Amino acid sequence: MKADLKGLDTREIEAWAVRLGLEAYRGRQIRHWLLGRLADSFEEMTDIPKSIRVLLEDNANISHLEQVKALVSTDGTRKYLFKLNDGHFIESVLIPERDHWTLCISSQAGCAMDCRFCLTARQGLKRDLEASEIIEQVIQIKRSMDNGGRVTNIVFMGMGEPLANYDAVVKAIRNLVSEDGLNFSHRKITLSTCGLVPRMTKLGKDITVNLAISLNAADDKTRSFLMPINSRYPLKTLLSACRDFPLPNRRMITFEYILIKGVNDRDEDALKLVSLLKGLRAKINLIPLNPLPGLDMSPSSMESILNFQGILLKNHFTAIIRKSKGADILAACGQLSGAISESES
Ligand code: SAH
Repeated sequence: MKADLKGLDTREIEAWAVRLGLEAYRGRQIRHWLLGRLADSFEEMTDIPKSIRVLLEDNANISHLEQVKALVSTDGTRKYLFKLNDGHFIESVLIPERDHWTLCISSQAGCAMDCRFCLTARQGLKRDLEASEIIEQVIQIKRSMDNGGRVTNIVFMGMGEPLANYDAVVKAIRNLVSEDGLNFSHRKITLSTCGLVPRMTKLGKDITVNLAISLNAADDKTRSFLMPINSRYPLKTLLSACRDFPLPNRRMITFEYILIKGVNDRDEDALKLVSLLKGLRAKINLIPLNPLPGLDMSPSSMESILNFQGILLKNHFTAIIRKSKGADILAACGQLSGAISESES
C-alpha cells in the first residue's frame, strides 16, 4: 500500500524516506512541502530532483478529502462538508473573529458520547478519523481562503470526541505545531472534551495544548442526564483531573456551559458552578442552547443568561456569553451532522 504522508510525524517520515533509499532529511523536506507549503502534488516540490519525485509518485499518496459543499452564513461563518474515501461525511467550520479566523475541526465521523443536546450524537459513531484526515481539513481550508490561508486558531470542537480518537488526534496536533509542519503555536490550539478523564491526564503528559471541558452542569444528576459520560467520570473525578492538568504558562482551562431553560440556568446552578471551579484558573464560556429538531429543551432567556453570568463575574470568574455563529447554515455548536447533506451528494 502507498504511504499516506500527511499523517506521519517527523521521525516516521524520516524513517520512511530512508526505507526508500533516500537520506532522512528528504523526509523532512517532503513534509515541509506538504504541510508548511500546502503542496498538492510532488510535481510542485521543485527543490527535489525529478528522479526522486518519480520515486515518490510510485510509493506515496497525497491524500485528499472531497469537498462536497461550502456554505457561507450571513455572519461570515463558513461551513465545509467533506466526504471521506469510504463515503462518510465530516464537517469543519471557519469562524471569523474581529481580527482573526478560528477553524473548528472534526476528529471523528459521528460520535459515540450520546450527549442529549448534540446533533452529531444522533448519528452515533461512524468511525475515527486518521491523523491525515484531521490535518487535511486544515490544509484544504487554508488553501481555499482568499487571505493567504491565515487561520490563527484551531479548535477541536467539530464532530466527534477528540480524546476517544487519542492517537490520531495527538499525531495531528504534533503535525500542526511542528516547525516543518503547519507551524502553529500550541497556544493557538484548543482541544475540547466531554471529559474522558484518564485520557485527559495522559494528554497533559504527552503534549502541550489548551484544554476546554464541555461541562454544561454543576451537579452530577443534571450532568449525567445531559451527558452520559458523566456516569463513568463524575464531576469530582473530572475536576480533580482539571486541577492536575499542566497548563501552558498563564493559560486557563475553558469550561463550556450550555444554558438550557429550567435545566441548568438557575441562581443555585451558578453558585454550584462557582464552588465547583473554586481555585481553578478557569474561563467560562456561556453558550445559549442551539435548538435542534425534536429536542425537548430550549435556550435560557437573555435575562437568565445575564443573571447567570452576573453571579460568575461577582465571584471573580471570567465568564463570556458566546452567541454561536453560523446558525443559519447549521454550523453552530452542536449542529454538525454530515448526515443532513447525504441526500444531496
Ligand atoms: N466532544 C467534544 C468536542 C465537541 S465540542 C466535547 O464534548 O467537547 C462541541 C461543543 O458544542 C461542546 O462544548 C458542546 O457542549 C457544544 N454543544 C453541543 N450541542 C450544542 C447545542 N445544541 N447548543 C450549544 N452548544 C452545543
